[in-house]
Amino acid sequence: MRIILLGPPGAGKGTQAKLLVERLAVPQISTGDMLRAAVKDGGPLGGQAKAYMDRGALVPDEVIIGLVRERLQAADCARGYILDGFPRTVAQAEALEKTLGELRLNLDHVLYLDVPVEELVERIAGRRTCRRCGAMSHVRFSPTRRDGVCDVCGGETYQRDDDGEDTVRRRLAVYTEQTAPLVRFYEGRGVLRRIVGTGEIGEIFARMVQSLGG
Ligand code: AMP
Repeated sequence: MRIILLGPPGAGKGTQAKLLVERLAVPQISTGDMLRAAVKDGGPLGGQAKAYMDRGALVPDEVIIGLVRERLQAADCARGYILDGFPRTVAQAEALEKTLGELRLNLDHVLYLDVPVEELVERIAGRRTCRRCGAMSHVRFSPTRRDGVCDVCGGETYQRDDDGEDTVRRRLAVYTEQTAPLVRFYEGRGVLRRIVGTGEIGEIFARMVQSLGG
C-alpha cells in the first residue's frame, strides 16, 4: 500500500506513520528524518540541507526529489510505503506522480491530518525525540517517566533544532504557502481523505485505519 501522510508540522505525521508501519508492515519514509541523518553524518547533502532546515525553509525540490526517487527503489519499498513529509510542494507531487507512472504504480491514499494552527505551536514546542531510537514524546501530552530519558531505550531525548518558536512560525507559514495547495491537488486526484487530527493518539490512529478501509 502506498500512502502519503499530509499535514502541517506538528500534526502528528511521524507518530501516526510509526503506528501505520506496525499495522501495514511497510516502511516509513520521512524526508525530515533522512535529512537529519544526513546532517548528523556530516556529508555534503547534510551540509547543504542544514542551512535551509535551520531557518525553517524547504530544501530545494531537486535535492529532495533525487533523494526520494533513490529511496523508493530500495527492496523494502516493493510492497509499499508511508511517505511522511513528502511531497511538500506541487513540484514534488508532480515528480512523484511521474516516478510512479513510469513504474505503472498508483498512490492508494493521501491522508490529511487536520489540526487547528493554535494547537500546532503548543504541540511542537513540547515535543522531544530520542537521539538513539527516534521514539517521540511530549513534555505535557506523553511525558517520559524520567525527564530527558527515553522510555523505550534509555537514550537521551532532545528538542529538534528547528522546533524553537520563531522557526516553527516560519515553518507554518511555509506550509501554508507551499504545502497546503497539495490538499487541492490530491482532492483533484480523488485520493484525499481528511482525518480529524485532534484527540488521543490511539483515537486518531483508529480514524486513519478506518479511512484506509479497516
Ligand atoms: P520534518 O521533519 O518533516 O518537519 O522536516 C524538517 C525540515 O526538513 C523541513 O522544515 C525542511 O527544511 C526539510 N524537509 C523535510 N522534508 C522536506 C521536503 N519534502 N521538501 C523540502 N524540505 C523538506
